Amino acid sequence: MRKTLYFKFILAYVLFGIFGFTIVATFVSSMTLEHTRREKADDMYREATLIANTYATDLYNSEVSLDSVQRQLSSIATFMDAEIWILNPSGRMVVDSAKTIDPQAVVNVEGYDPSVVNKDQYVVGTFFGWFTEDQISVIAPITGEYRIKGYVCIHLPYSQIVDSANSLLNISYLELLVLFLLSLIVLIFFTEMVYIPLKKITTATEQYAAGNMNYRIKVESEDEMGYLSASLNYMASEIARQEDDQKKFVANVSHDFRSPLTSIKGFLEAMIDGTIPPEMHEKYLKVVLNETNRLTKLTNGLLTLNNLNTSGMLLHKTDFDINAIIREVAESFEQTCKDKKVAIELVLTGEKLYVNGDVERIEQVLYNLVDNALKFSHHDSVVRIETTEKHSKIFTSVKDSGIGIPKEDQKQIWERFYKTDLSRGKDKNGTGLGLSIVREIIRAHGENINLVSTEGVGSEFIFSLKRSDMNDELDD
Ligand code: ADP
Repeated sequence: MRKTLYFKFILAYVLFGIFGFTIVATFVSSMTLEHTRREKADDMYREATLIANTYATDLYNSEVSLDSVQRQLSSIATFMDAEIWILNPSGRMVVDSAKTIDPQAVVNVEGYDPSVVNKDQYVVGTFFGWFTEDQISVIAPITGEYRIKGYVCIHLPYSQIVDSANSLLNISYLELLVLFLLSLIVLIFFTEMVYIPLKKITTATEQYAAGNMNYRIKVESEDEMGYLSASLNYMASEIARQEDDQKKFVANVSHDFRSPLTSIKGFLEAMIDGTIPPEMHEKYLKVVLNETNRLTKLTNGLLTLNNLNTSGMLLHKTDFDINAIIREVAESFEQTCKDKKVAIELVLTGEKLYVNGDVERIEQVLYNLVDNALKFSHHDSVVRIETTEKHSKIFTSVKDSGIGIPKEDQKQIWERFYKTDLSRGKDKNGTGLGLSIVREIIRAHGENINLVSTEGVGSEFIFSLKRSDMNDELDD
């Protein structure tokens, strides 16, 4: 059986009650009785000593009559609710506060021994079988002329001690009950603040485990429970969004693969069944080759993105001259520039400008940016590549005066497969993966890439890289 947290808490609460009650009923009970007994015995012994030093001494010195002592003791005994005796050392009763003793009748306490009292000067029992009920008795010696003349004994029914100990104990029971009720408030608070929110969170996690990522937890408290719920809600919405992206991604990939494959299949079938005459084959085979190139590009792009994501982007960072890489990339586009009548202008800072990064990846970034700049440039325009140094950063900008990117598209162009409507007519071979790859690479370097673009005027992509210390050696 699965034990809930709530069940455990209730169990702890009940155990607390049982233990509390047991402790009060045993330890506290015996401690209270012991305490009451000792206090009472102390009071009685003090009183007995006082009587021994006053009335009893006077009686033995024959300064007062037996009668008057009996009356005095009787009133003290009534006040104390006790019985007071004066005994001879042998145990013969001289005065009893309860009744007048006939001097002729010899009343002896059989077996009387004043040493029966414990170290606290009292004894509990029937006092040598004199009483039928248990009494607490104290014995105080009456001394005079360096000898013991007799004893003062005070007896109190033991049931009285038990009664007053019990009334004290009742207070402890009452306190325990109040404590128990107060701790019920803690239990209610726990239920409201921890258990109910936790239950909602558990239900939510069960929903998430079952795949329902749209489930939302309704816990709005401003505490750890609230933060946990908000984090879980955020996590679920992110997963839901990623699932959505994944679906879109697969849909895009299938679409982008299907259209070239359909056209390749169409042309090849037409060639085989003779719809396209043999003399036209070369022209259509070129189209087929073009389409396969597009497929290769698409596959490579996907593989690169996948590698970037799965390897947590392992970068092989070195210090390299970015100016040299820019020159190389620009040269590789020489033919394209000639075909499009677009010039590449290099505005580079210094002869050599060292940065720290993964040279191959940065070359890929530059290649993609320059490729886009040329693709979307008008004839007879200039693409400018510039490097600038600011503080510990090197900024590289690739700027064209082409078709530009509409404001509403500027956020989305970084997404996989995204292409603006403006560009579709100009670039049929684009995969929409280039800028996603660029952004992933720059992010992996811990740097930024920004876009400044105006529709119809042109675009500028600027990315930063860490400046290498090797530049300082160049300056020296
Ligand atoms: P593609 O392979 O289609 O170029 P990218 O991810 O590199 O994919 O670019 C995404 C889209 O962003 C392009 O299709 C185009 O619409 C837009 N874009 C990128 N660079 C430029 C630019 N320099 N000028 C205008 N539009 C651009």
